[in-house]
Amino acid sequence: MYDRYSMTADDFINDDEIRDTLAYADANKHNAELIKTIIGKAKLRKGLDHREASVLLACDIPELNDEIYELAGEIKRDFYGDRIVMFAPLYISNYCVNGCVYCPYHAKNKHISRKKLTQEEIRAEVTALQDMGHKRLAIETGEDPVNCPIDYVLESIRTIYSIKHRNGAIRRVNVNIAATTVGNYRKLKDAGIGTYILFQETYHKESYLKLHPTGPKHDYSYHTEAMDRAMEGGIDDVGCGVLFGLELYRYEFAGLLMHAEHLEAVHGVGPHTISVPRIKHADDIDPDAFDNGIDDDTFLKIIACIRIAVPYTGMIISTRESKSVREKALKLGISQISGGSRTSVGGYVEPEDDDDNSAQFDVSDNRTLDEVVKWLMELGYVPSFCTACYREGRTGDRFMSLCKSGQIQNCCLPNALMTLKEYLMDYASPDTRRIGDRVISEQVSGITNLRTREIAIRHLADIENGERDFRF
Ligand code: SF4
Ligand code: SF4
Repeated sequence: MYDRYSMTADDFINDDEIRDTLAYADANKHNAELIKTIIGKAKLRKGLDHREASVLLACDIPELNDEIYELAGEIKRDFYGDRIVMFAPLYISNYCVNGCVYCPYHAKNKHISRKKLTQEEIRAEVTALQDMGHKRLAIETGEDPVNCPIDYVLESIRTIYSIKHRNGAIRRVNVNIAATTVGNYRKLKDAGIGTYILFQETYHKESYLKLHPTGPKHDYSYHTEAMDRAMEGGIDDVGCGVLFGLELYRYEFAGLLMHAEHLEAVHGVGPHTISVPRIKHADDIDPDAFDNGIDDDTFLKIIACIRIAVPYTGMIISTRESKSVREKALKLGISQISGGSRTSVGGYVEPEDDDDNSAQFDVSDNRTLDEVVKWLMELGYVPSFCTACYREGRTGDRFMSLCKSGQIQNCCLPNALMTLKEYLMDYASPDTRRIGDRVISEQVSGITNLRTREIAIRHLADIENGERDFRF
């Protein structure tokens, strides 16, 4: 039985409910009256449930699809303004005991290079990331209790936070590790992580079991209920996602929103972020071997419909996607992107070649962080290196209530401008700096609270004079 309040995966991600939802969406994909009513509800900026959003995703009427894209863009601008938060992944170990058939780190892959960074190597990687200008990282590991135990992850987090190189600092460490116990989530919380990220990969249980034939990840319920354990362990910012291409995208879309509804119903706060990775080529993985690949237009419609369904949830796109897809996705709802990423273990210090490959997937956007920052500003965006909320204790339901009331906007823009200014002073090329200084002087008048604007202007001058790390 479908029950969003249940703590059992099969109930809150209920297969019958998803199938009914897809049938309902199919039956109504030409129903202009219903679709207009749903768009009208979405205009209230309070989100949609999985059934309503699934109808929009299925909508087959071109003029109404145009309205959906327009609304997604408006909601994006209302909640996130022109700001785009920057981050980088940091792969610290690719040992893995699982058999995921879509990932080159699967245990049976004998020709991929297996690596695990020492704390000294992590220091070197983080120094390289700081020298690029990054302030926010996502740690990535495979699952291996022997080669990559929780104590190693905790030690690595401590190392990362401790490194202060020139004016650099990593101020927020998000963590993407395998589903684990409440006790381990508590340890991660105590280590000061930002968001705990875990992709469901697929919500389709039957496919899930086939795609994860061996290893602890085979346990669908344990994996699907991980976010509940994370929240029980005190982590209140969690990041969800599916790997589009493994199953029918409409099934995944409904499952993803049902997961968000479950977290909101049970814990009072939905996911902090949603990521939208698509399956890509990597070592022994050929994306064409999977039947459910989605084209760019479908991918962009998914992004638009997620934006409308959960306006308060940040949306992340990685360098799996090309520059041109990222550009379109930014307009429709993406609020956070990576830049200058390496998806191999130790790749920031030592780029790899074909004979020594530890990468999880091939990167489609190979530009440097400076190029990405400059490109964003040329498109009219404000790249932000802000990490203030987590450091000010604005997490979980406290964060969400500030989002829902719109008050968070008073912090986001000044923080974006001050962290961009730091980036320009410390890391940018002359061209990027020139454009950035113009962007800051144009955007500063958009800080509506006069007192906040005054303080921000003062701090921008302080940063010019060598001071760092101001935040609202
Ligand atoms: S997806 Fe994760 S768990 Fe699966 S093989 Fe890759 S690293 Fe291991
Ligand atoms: S103020 Fe908070 S919500 Fe806004 S960009 Fe910074 S961390 Fe994100």
